[in-house]
Amino acid sequence: MGSMPEPVNVTRVLVVGGAYGGLSVALNLQDLCRGLPPRCGEKPTDDEQVVVAQFALDITIVDERDGYYHTIGSPLALASEAFAEKCWVKYDEIPALQSPDIRVLQGSVKSVDPERKVASYVGHGSTETTELQYDYFVAASGLRRVWPVVPQSLRRKQYLFEAGDHIRAVTAAKHGVVIVGGGAVGIEMAAELKLVHPHLTVTLVHSRDKLLSSESLPDEVKDRSLDLLRDAGVDVLMSHRLERTEKTTDDAGGTCLRVHFTNGHAMLADNVVMAVSRSVPSTTYLPHSALDEEGYVKIQANLTFPPTTPNPPTTSPSATSSAGRAKRCGAAMHMGYFAAHNIHQHMQLQQQQQRLGKDDSPPRAQEQKTETETEPKRPQYLELKEIPPMIGLAVGKQAVLTGPRGA
Ligand SMILES: Cc1cc2nc3c(=O)[nH]c(=O)nc-3n(C[C@H](O)[C@H](O)[C@H](O)COP(=O)(O)OP(=O)(O)OC[C@H]3O[C@@H](n4cnc5c(N)ncnc54)[C@H](O)[C@@H]3O)c2cc1C
Repeated sequence: MGSMPEPVNVTRVLVVGGAYGGLSVALNLQDLCRGLPPRCGEKPTDDEQVVVAQFALDITIVDERDGYYHTIGSPLALASEAFAEKCWVKYDEIPALQSPDIRVLQGSVKSVDPERKVASYVGHGSTETTELQYDYFVAASGLRRVWPVVPQSLRRKQYLFEAGDHIRAVTAAKHGVVIVGGGAVGIEMAAELKLVHPHLTVTLVHSRDKLLSSESLPDEVKDRSLDLLRDAGVDVLMSHRLERTEKTTDDAGGTCLRVHFTNGHAMLADNVVMAVSRSVPSTTYLPHSALDEEGYVKIQANLTFPPTTPNPPTTSPSATSSAGRAKRCGAAMHMGYFAAHNIHQHMQLQQQQQRLGKDDSPPRAQEQKTETETEPKRPQYLELKEIPPMIGLAVGKQAVLTGPRGA
């Protein structure tokens, strides 16, 4: 009689948010658990032999959208219908996610009970709450952003209408379009509109005397951004605070808007686009004890929830944190990689403890190649360092970049 195959225990990982941070966690963890070098980690040299502990995984990604939305492309997607098509890819069309160990659910996570390791979610278009059990929980739900900073649609089809309607409305403007807000979003939005529609009069107005006034960046970067914006053909009004708009008629009897500023200046425009960012953390589903007063996760350097949260070592949030907010997509992917690495380290620790008899539950791994049975290896957690201020701004055909060398 042949021997019975050992039952394979599968580790369940629940990731909230399928954007830069969430996909980075899922795919790096999948690499590691397959014994491969993680795609965002350092590449091993040809003569370096890397042996990585393998585990069977069941990753569930929950996102409110039906696809991956490339948020950083928003300013161009809201200027060009052709680009808008490329900016949102449905999850079932992303080759890397078509794997038996990854499933993507469209819906909204509403609460998490770390004690029971259960999250509740409501599927898109449903009113029913479903429970999802997990072994590891990852919060990668980023920020909630208003229109027109990002589209508000949850389905690609609806998003294309939303972007198309906006583009047609702003580009039909005879008297031009006024963008309010000289932060990164307003600057890029104004520059992309002017680049794609050179005939359009685009005016950017900002209430302060420097662009990017809420960013802790050197003045040189702020001044350079203003120069590039003007070079790109955008009219820029500094120290202009929007007071109100009123419908009026122009000399030809056409309807347009009169835009009034608190300094007494007024101008005609057909459209006013508010690029004043009011983004808030999407963390309402997390226990209060894990959040600071603004709603950001009180993240630990190794990306776990604070020790006051039950089971903190088995929960690894990425992307929303008070220590290093993912204000850049690269930082979100980096945090996702760290979270994946640390979960993988914790999985090995648990497996060792089970093998040494500290835990009665069955082993989770399919295979373990790196450690001996008697000498437990301490987990090598990666720790996040403070992310220094940096920015990369596309201003028409030019760009402004700043940050520490090598960042
Ligand atoms: C207009 C604009 C331009 C930008 N330009 C740049 C740039 O040029 N370079 C740069 O580095 N960075 C840029 N950024 C910043 C960058 O977009 C963010 O750093 C990045 O999006 C953070 O990624 P994330 O994965 O943490 O979160 P997000 O991109 O915010 O994604 C979070 C995901 O979670 C989902 N979600 C939220 N709540 C729930 C819930 N309860 N249940 C299920 N799903 C949920 C959302 O649908 C979303 O898909 C820009 C941002 C904006 C708005």
